[in-house]
Amino acid sequence: MRAHALIFLGAPGAGKGTQAREVAKDCGIPQISTGDILREAAKKQTPLGLAAKAKMDAGELVPDEVVCGIVEERISEPDCRAGFILDGFPRTLAQAEFVDRALRAKGHGRPQVLNIEVDEDLLLKRLTGRRTCSVGGEIYNIYFNPPKRDGVCDKDGGKLLSRADDNEQAIRQRLEAYHHQTSPLIDYYRAQGVLHGVDGNKDPESIARELREFFARA
Ligand code: AMP
Repeated sequence: MRAHALIFLGAPGAGKGTQAREVAKDCGIPQISTGDILREAAKKQTPLGLAAKAKMDAGELVPDEVVCGIVEERISEPDCRAGFILDGFPRTLAQAEFVDRALRAKGHGRPQVLNIEVDEDLLLKRLTGRRTCSVGGEIYNIYFNPPKRDGVCDKDGGKLLSRADDNEQAIRQRLEAYHHQTSPLIDYYRAQGVLHGVDGNKDPESIARELREFFARA
């Protein structure tokens, strides 16, 4: 695959993180998840993390200037020279315009955007059932992809935790933020001719296979 920037677009629970991880491994380029970076900052109680935590726990978006600053810094690191995957960014029109400017400035071509489409009832099960390994970040789902032992990661034995924002109130707010602020990006990228739809209702292995075939053609 040619070096460039990939964007994973989709509602919360669409499987962006799971698929972006696989593609990052296959393509040998870093996965940049603004959600992961913010959660890590919150865990370490840095000023950035403390400021973002209240918004994240409520299911609201963190201000554009904060997340754009994070991404600007991260994509300037040497491992991003050959390309990178943005997972959960951009989420607003202002962030998308920032990406366009940043890619132009770095001499990357237009991004390729993978829009993972998932029915709303399935999204809810994915979010309420999600468990993440507190050690390696491996993602499970108690309904669809349970660990062998309850609450324990198969890979490294780490404790599996629910995210603070995977509760009903925050989930409702996150879906609303997606519909109002993020879904307009579908038309934005479609108009640029860089949008690729992916049926995210299938099981993760089938989606990963489809993505591999897509990249083999790209
Ligand atoms: P995620 O892990 O992508 O679901 O993100 C978790 C939370 O982090 C979101 O609900 C937001 O509060 C915050 N967040 C992550 N990425 C962004 C972004 N691009 N813009 C604004 N807030 C974000």
